[in-house]
Amino acid sequence: MSQRTLSDTKNVTGGKSFAPPIGFRFGAVAAGVKEAGGVRKDLALIASEIPCAAAGVVTVNKLCAAPIRYSATRLPGHGIRAIVANSGNANALTGPFGAADERAIATAVAKALGVGADDVLTASTGGIGIRMPVERIAAAAPALVGALGDDVASAAEAIRTTDLRTKLAFRELELGGKTVRFAAIAKGSGMIHPQMATMLCFITTDARVAPETLQRALVSAVDETFNTITVDGDMSTNDTVIALANGASGAPAIEPGSAACKTLEATLTSLCADLARAIAADGEGASKLFVVDVAGVPDREMARDLARAVAGGSLVKSGIFGGDPSWGRILAALGARIGARNYPIDPTGVTLDVQGVRVYGDGGPVAFDKDDLSARMRSTEITARMDLGLGKASARALGCDLTFDYVKINAEYYSGPKGLDAANGKHAPGGVNRPVIVEALSYIRKFAGKRAVIKYGGAAMIDPALKRSFAEEMVLLQSAGLRPVIVHGGGPEITKTLEKMGRKSEFADGQRITGAEEVRVVEMVLTGRINTEIVGLINSLGGNAIGLSGKDGRLLIASKLETAPGKTDLGFVGEIDAVNADLLDMFLERGYMPVISPVGFGLDGASYNINADVAAGEIASACGAERLIFLTDVAGILDDKGNLLSEVKAADLEAQLGKSIKGGMHVKAQAVLDALAGGVRAVHIVDGRAPHSVVAELFTDHGVGTLVT
Ligand code: ADP
Ligand code: MG
Repeated sequence: MSQRTLSDTKNVTGGKSFAPPIGFRFGAVAAGVKEAGGVRKDLALIASEIPCAAAGVVTVNKLCAAPIRYSATRLPGHGIRAIVANSGNANALTGPFGAADERAIATAVAKALGVGADDVLTASTGGIGIRMPVERIAAAAPALVGALGDDVASAAEAIRTTDLRTKLAFRELELGGKTVRFAAIAKGSGMIHPQMATMLCFITTDARVAPETLQRALVSAVDETFNTITVDGDMSTNDTVIALANGASGAPAIEPGSAACKTLEATLTSLCADLARAIAADGEGASKLFVVDVAGVPDREMARDLARAVAGGSLVKSGIFGGDPSWGRILAALGARIGARNYPIDPTGVTLDVQGVRVYGDGGPVAFDKDDLSARMRSTEITARMDLGLGKASARALGCDLTFDYVKINAEYYSGPKGLDAANGKHAPGGVNRPVIVEALSYIRKFAGKRAVIKYGGAAMIDPALKRSFAEEMVLLQSAGLRPVIVHGGGPEITKTLEKMGRKSEFADGQRITGAEEVRVVEMVLTGRINTEIVGLINSLGGNAIGLSGKDGRLLIASKLETAPGKTDLGFVGEIDAVNADLLDMFLERGYMPVISPVGFGLDGASYNINADVAAGEIASACGAERLIFLTDVAGILDDKGNLLSEVKAADLEAQLGKSIKGGMHVKAQAVLDALAGGVRAVHIVDGRAPHSVVAELFTDHGVGTLVT
């Protein structure tokens, strides 16, 4: 999904780094909200050095949580200094205690900050009906204030519950010759439905704007974005969107009705749209974002209602999970809603396009290319578009598929992973689906003892939740008898480190120009930092990884890559002359999982920077790997129309080099071809932006990415 909000250490989203708005600080600590001594960060603070204009949109649930009730008395309003937000407890439906607990938390944080308690808002998310551990939170307040800094991601991390990903968004614009910044964090995963998700979203900006003006812009932005999300039919007690504006940018005040006001509204809308997509795509258990567009109806409310009804239909969502175009179910859900609501329209002229393919129109089903559509259905984003041809209004709803994991997560939310009674449903103890297990077991037998080289790169190396799920997958593969070898990249991290040292990264033909100083940094980052981190994570999860650079045991003997005459000299970029397969054999036979940083060992004593795709390909051939898997940030190899190729033959791939296959994929495709020529049986290119894609590709009949043979 192109819009997925990813974050790494700090203030980076979608690979871009940003500065938070002036005067705002962010921080988080582990306060043990859920249980004393908990180590996960669960308490976040956003504070402004200057009093802020504040606006808010909250749940319409009548049994709403205590923080919502307080916020409603203050918003829109002046003078807000901070928002303290926790995960792990919703502070909802705790009887008379809720309101007092809420103010006690605000008071403790206000005291640590040195501001008035009335000017501190709170927000909570987590389990309902449990009293807040006020003492633990109050005790953590000084440390929370001490943790304040410019790390927006740390606050976003602390408000996560079942969210798999941290959600951040930022914007920057010029106003009256000044730079105005916006930074926002959000969480939301379960109980997501119109009128917003169980979602929290906090937007900060250094724009100057009156509370009422900010409120109007926020209401409109929320309406266009968060209110179009539907994950399940339940409405949360705690939904909250708060915007704070402190005016510290020095830009002129935004007046109602002005051009600047329109810009503000558009900026808030696009910021919220990014977060709304990220929330829908990260719905509990979700594996796909589901976008439903309804057009050609007489009025907008009707369009919105119909789009939501379709996006929220359980049968439709199950079909989307299964990769079925589900056109019958989609139209049935549409017709049912029109009937149930008694809308005075006749939908028989409707057209339906799924993934851009017309499947219904002219009053009946349309013949379509089944293979083509089923390949398109393997995308992580599915779009269904209906046009009723009865008017000008249209609307979009954002949803997700309904997966086994959704049920598993929610069945176990309070009771822990006891699993469902195997006799009563399709789920075996532990919540795993039986047909999938049977399917997977046949692959496990096929792969037992076989070697697989995995090129680890992209978002899966940056996003904390994806890093963990990757490490879990590797441990799982190892315990299933497969012998994984990991080769990792690290380009963005190297670029950042060089940047910090005041050095610019320069590239020629996609390769880093690597001088003597650069190669030292490459080695430090790849071997010294990234490699040890991966090894540590895998081993902490019960794996048996061993870190190796290409220098260790002369694993990758390399020499300088000579460029053609007239081309830029690349310095210490190397090519591999030999792979020490004996060394890998030794580790693999003893049950170790080698994790390799692509630094080449020159017989001249120099270190060489080696492209990780190339290294993965060469290592796969040299160690007799059955499979080679590339984790990257696209769905797989795409054809000239942008459609995913689910299977492709080497010869067809070769024919597309430099045509539909360009840039980073060209390097990968060349490595794929070399590996196949070198004896690797099959190569997979999978989307590392979705969790568990390696297991899904290897252990199911359908796979998820591109298979090259
Ligand atoms: P990694 O960081 O995993 O090495 P790269 O960014 O180097 O990934 O390479 C993948 C990129 O190649 C894609 O994001 C895309 O921009 C580009 N690309 C070019 N042609 C294609 C294609 N036919 N299919 C998929 N991706 C392609
Ligand atoms: Mg690359």
